[in-house]
Formats: sequence, C-alpha cells, structure tokens
Amino acid sequence: MAKDYYQILGVSRDASQEEIKKAYRRLAHKYHPDKEGGDEEKFKEINEAYQVLSDPQKRKQYDQFGQAFAGNASGASWQDFARAYGGGGFDFNQGFGEGVEFDFGDLGDLGDLFSNIFGGFSGGRRQSAKRRGEDLEVEITIDFLEAVKGGKRTLMIDKYVTCPSCHGSGGAKDSKVETCSRCQGSGKVESMQRSLFGMVRTVKVCPVCQGEGKVFTKKCPTCHGSGRVKKKVEVEVDIPAGVDTGTTLHLPGQGNAGPQGSPPGDLYVHIKVKPSSEFKREGDNIITELPISFSQAALGDKVDIKTVDGVVSLKIPAGIQSGQVLKLSGKGVPHLRRRGRGDHLVKIKVITPKSLTRKQRKILEELRQEGL
Ligand SMILES: [Zn+2]
Ligand SMILES: [Zn+2]
Repeated sequence: MAKDYYQILGVSRDASQEEIKKAYRRLAHKYHPDKEGGDEEKFKEINEAYQVLSDPQKRKQYDQFGQAFAGNASGASWQDFARAYGGGGFDFNQGFGEGVEFDFGDLGDLGDLFSNIFGGFSGGRRQSAKRRGEDLEVEITIDFLEAVKGGKRTLMIDKYVTCPSCHGSGGAKDSKVETCSRCQGSGKVESMQRSLFGMVRTVKVCPVCQGEGKVFTKKCPTCHGSGRVKKKVEVEVDIPAGVDTGTTLHLPGQGNAGPQGSPPGDLYVHIKVKPSSEFKREGDNIITELPISFSQAALGDKVDIKTVDGVVSLKIPAGIQSGQVLKLSGKGVPHLRRRGRGDHLVKIKVITPKSLTRKQRKILEELRQEGL
C-alpha cells in the first residue's frame, strides 16, 4: 500500500508549497538522527515525503497514482496496477535515466522488488506511452487585496503549441506514411542496462517515431516534424480568494504541447503577494493597530475601522488597556478553497499626549488630584 506522504508531513492534501516546506523543516529538525530522541526511520520517511511533495510534478503524479492505488481494492498485483495506471505513473529517475522503461513481464519478481524498495508506487509507464509536453512554471506578483478577494489574470506565456500546419502530426501535407525503420514498427527499442540488480533489459519509446511505429516520409516544413511550434499565448488564470505567497496554482494541460501531438504538460503558477501598507496578514487573520487617546480608553468609544471589506464600526469598551486586541469576526482573509474566513484583529495602542494646551494641562492636573 502506498504511503500517505501528506499524513507523514501532517499537512492537508491542498497544502501550499510553503506549508509543506514548513512542516518538513519542523519534522526534519525534530527527528534528525543526530539529535537526542531522533528517529532515523522517521527521518528517512519525512525526507522521502518531502522530495515528492515539494516537487510540483512529482506531487501531481503522486496524487494521481497514490489515490488510484488506494482505491484499487480488487487485489490485482502491483504489476497489473503499474501497467493499468502507467500512463500517468511515476517517473523512474532514481539512477536509471529518463525514459527508461521496465518490461515487467520479463522482469517477473523484480517488479515486486521494486515496489518494496520504492514504497509501492514507483512504476514504469506503458511501454508504448508517448512523451508528454513539458510542465511550465511561472511566478506572478499580485496585490494584497487581489490575494484576499481573488480574481482573474491574463498571462502571456511563451510555450510550445500544436503546429497549425500539420495539427501536431509532424508530417507534411503531401507526405506518405511508412513503417519506422528504427523500431520496425513496434514503437519501442530495447537495450540491456546494468543496474543494482544485474543486467536489466530496458525498453524505451522509440526516439525516431515517438512510439507510433510509423514515420512520415516528408516532415512538416513549419515545425520540422516536431508537431509543435513556439508561440506567445494568453493564458487566463483564476486566482482563488485567500492565496498567499507560496501558493501554487495548477493548470492542467496549459504547459507545452507534446511532441507529435502527444498530450500537453501542465502549467504551475507560483503566487507572490505584495505586502500592504494598511494591513498585516498572519495566516488568514488581518492585523491592524489602532491608536486611541487616554480618554477614549478610559471612557470607551465607537470608531471606524478600515477592513478588507470596507469601513466597519468598532465599539471600544470603557477601560480598555494598551495592547488589548479586539476581534472583528470573519472580517479577515477567506480560507483558500475552504469555507469561512479569518478574523480582523485590532490591536489597541493608547497614546500619551506629547504636548498639552493650557486647558488640557489644567484638566489633567485636576485628574491627578482625583488620583488618576
Ligand atoms: Zn507541423
Ligand atoms: Zn520507431
């Protein structure tokens, strides 16, 4: 059964990259084997979880693969599972190089061995799987209130799009189709590779036909056979209310178009929020300071407070102390992709006057005589 990396790090499934990093740092510190009360096993587990969840692409694959695995209660073997879900499976990058594919049928028990070693979710992709377009990442900076309220942004992204001349096939209009000479039409090429377990027969997608088994006799002149061209395109991004610096938005299919009409990659938009001169944010709470006079503190008052929703009235109770905090419930930042909102906290600061008029001085001297 696949490990729940989210549970290991103690974060929710929609945790931001920042939250994951924080949780990792805290736990890695706590369980570091060099420390008293450290736990090497736990430390390894935490690192493994972090390596996957901190990488947007691996995380996505884990989400897809891990969840499918959890729901696979039919008792099918892991090899069957890897075959069935291989298309969206985990890249097997640990020392084997990109694009290396395992032929589980021939490896036999080795498949189980891999599953034990790599926590039961590593796998090979379908042997005939074509390459997918690359994922893209961009960072955008948004205003404080935009983060609080959410909105739309149109980004200009320089990316590969499907070639308009050949619609992704890579072949010229007057081209014929013939069997790929490199793979003799099988779509895959095999090689022997040395590994931890001795010689392993690896199967790769044919680099000439990208697994199609067929090639065009004449390449498309626009894309030179790649099936895609670079273009600046507009991408509309929905920014949900409550994002913060460190939030990453995932836009499936908005990455580079795949070569020869294969599926596109995804786009990851990293959010950075500009600080506000008026509001301080702590999690989903907004914090502001309210300077009041000695008499307002002693007698109480009603004042206008600027919140992210506009101005609201706040009652200051008589006898409030400097440093006390008044809460405007639900006037903070909306929780990201959850119901509810944080609060607006108003920190009271009683200001002692620095200069006094003759009349004020007289009144204060009378107050002193009253014992105030
Ligand atoms: Zn083309
Ligand atoms: Zn081929």
